[in-house]
Amino acid sequence: MRCYGVQGSEEEGLIVEHAPDVLRVATAFVNAYILGTAEGWILVDTGLPGAAPLIRRGVAARFGSSARPLAIVLTHGHFDHAGNADALALEWDVPILAHPLEMPYLIGRSDYPPIDSTMGGAIAVMARTFSRRGRKLAAQVLPLSGDTVPGAPEWRWIHTPGHTHGHVSLFRESDRTLIAGDALITMDMDSWTEQVQRTPEPSLSPSAAERAAAASRSAASRKPLRRWMT
Ligand SMILES: [Zn+2]
Repeated sequence: MRCYGVQGSEEEGLIVEHAPDVLRVATAFVNAYILGTAEGWILVDTGLPGAAPLIRRGVAARFGSSARPLAIVLTHGHFDHAGNADALALEWDVPILAHPLEMPYLIGRSDYPPIDSTMGGAIAVMARTFSRRGRKLAAQVLPLSGDTVPGAPEWRWIHTPGHTHGHVSLFRESDRTLIAGDALITMDMDSWTEQVQRTPEPSLSPSAAERAAAASRSAASRKPLRRWMT
């Protein structure tokens, strides 16, 4: 596991290669991923608004300051995953790819439905304050098609609806790695302290995670996942 960023700096531990050619950029409670090699790579999700400089530093550390991806792929369009998509896509002059069912929220046609007010847990309570407004992005937004990921031939995208209608996860068969966006959770969502401490104890949300796991199992010929990340 290789870490990028200056040791002892506030960025230490935020940019980490967790699997071959899978670089995670941690932005508070949300991650972005740089997938691929210098010959071709994509950015998956873009973190919280304001995280663009950290993502740029991750890209520069990995591939050099002039590198740019072949595309930005969004697991879904919530502000904490798509927060910098428009700015980075315009800066790099690359398209944003998302599931067709997620497109209405990215091209200004629809707002997300309200959060289920009966749901408990720290994040669920906090999420009631999050904006559910759809946005009209200025960058080019294109629908994913087939099951391969343009710019990342090792990866397939899997429709994992539940968290949003058009949520997708990315799966790499060669080492059975799954990038699951918000379809899986990796901390106790009922605990406020874990949101801060980020205890690395995997846990599953009861609905979306089951769908994601079922989808990934069928995609993975029912073999267990070797590694999964959110
Ligand atoms: Zn979300």
